[in-house]
Amino acid sequence: MHRSLSRSNAQFKKAVQRLPLGVSSNFRFWGEKQTIYAARGKGARIWDIDGNEYIDYRLAYGPCILGYADPRVDAAALEGVEIGGVFALSTEREYAVADRICRMVPSAELVRFSNSGTEAVMAALRLARAYTGKDSYIVVEGGYHGVFDAALWYTPMKSWKPSQGDPEVLPYSEGVPQILKRLLYTVPLNDANRLEDVLKKHRADIGAFMIEPIMGNCCSITATDDYMRAARELCDKYEVVMIVDEVKTGFRVARGGVQELMGVEADLCTFAKAMGNGYPISVLAGREEIMRLIGEEVVHGGTFTCHSVALAAAEKTLEILEETPALETIAAYGTRLRAGMGAILDSRDIAHSFVGHPAMSGLFFSETPPTNYRDWSRTDYSFYEALAPELHTTGVLCEPDSREPWFICEAHDEGCLSETLERFETAVDIVLGRTARREPVIAKAKEAGR
Ligand code: PLP
Repeated sequence: MHRSLSRSNAQFKKAVQRLPLGVSSNFRFWGEKQTIYAARGKGARIWDIDGNEYIDYRLAYGPCILGYADPRVDAAALEGVEIGGVFALSTEREYAVADRICRMVPSAELVRFSNSGTEAVMAALRLARAYTGKDSYIVVEGGYHGVFDAALWYTPMKSWKPSQGDPEVLPYSEGVPQILKRLLYTVPLNDANRLEDVLKKHRADIGAFMIEPIMGNCCSITATDDYMRAARELCDKYEVVMIVDEVKTGFRVARGGVQELMGVEADLCTFAKAMGNGYPISVLAGREEIMRLIGEEVVHGGTFTCHSVALAAAEKTLEILEETPALETIAAYGTRLRAGMGAILDSRDIAHSFVGHPAMSGLFFSETPPTNYRDWSRTDYSFYEALAPELHTTGVLCEPDSREPWFICEAHDEGCLSETLERFETAVDIVLGRTARREPVIAKAKEAGR
């Protein structure tokens, strides 16, 4: 199997002269020879500048819920162009979209728009601090909440051993002030006792608990209903604002997001990716009592908020998601994809499991899926890391990092499914053939699953 990336490689050499890493987001850099430059996308497929076609399961890290260049959304966006952009004034459409969001999301009583997930989460944290008068906050190990300083912390897991106790917490970037670490607490997912211990000990300081109940940045590892119920109760008991970050799950796993799916209501919640089918728009929503602080004591704004193009695109996208069976179509495809991939892996006796929601599946090479990020370190992610580049070569685009889920859009169709499964089978066999000579992958995967 051969795929030429000669134009992408040449573009990289050129781009890197003017753009750090040759890209505009660090996560798009996959290496000097592996970085792909996109030419265009349509439906569930994208083409790179070498003319290679891919069935895409990254979907721009989730935004593309209906498909690239969806004609319904693009027509709405074009109407948005005619309106004129931004005016430093509000428009009538803002109310209409906010009203729909409040109808769709059980906990949303009021809404503020921003442009990106980062901005929405940043605003949520500020608001939680203002409401509680407490600056510290808790995040879940393996979670990701954007590129602002308070969120750019992580727990390195690849070399972590349970005997070491809690993993260390490190800044995800140079330049993030070390002093901010004092405000941050991390907990493993699905351990309510641990959450309560931290809250009990630091209740005077902790104003917010931030969680992605389906961890869209950690293989879709999922909180149990019991954990979410306990977390909700603990937030109430210790007077902490519960922020459910739905930047990835929102308008994807259910019309009312993961909160509807799990029957939990956040105090504040954030949405971004799927709401505009790729146009840049995000939302902070939540309880009226907290949201009304915006404008009284809390600053929120931005020159580009509610740009007429993004807002028109969001209005149409949300209308489609609420009023058509798009999400059922997406979930059904995801379920069939899992079944097909599972059958291929079963027939080769490769231990595996899927987790999360079929619209954003995590794939693990262990028999039982992890329940938190600590567990993930005990799965055979090296098999996934060998598989992903082979899938790219065969024309299936998944994230090289196993912690990113496989995203599905409405445009994934029968053709995509059969081609994906055919290519998946080829890629698995290539990896097996290759690794069988070097290491016993199957045995290793089974061992990891025990
Ligand atoms: N929150 C979550 C859960 C995310 O997955 C992301 C991005 O992947 C963000 C926040 C940040 O969103 P953005 O990249 O739009 O700033």
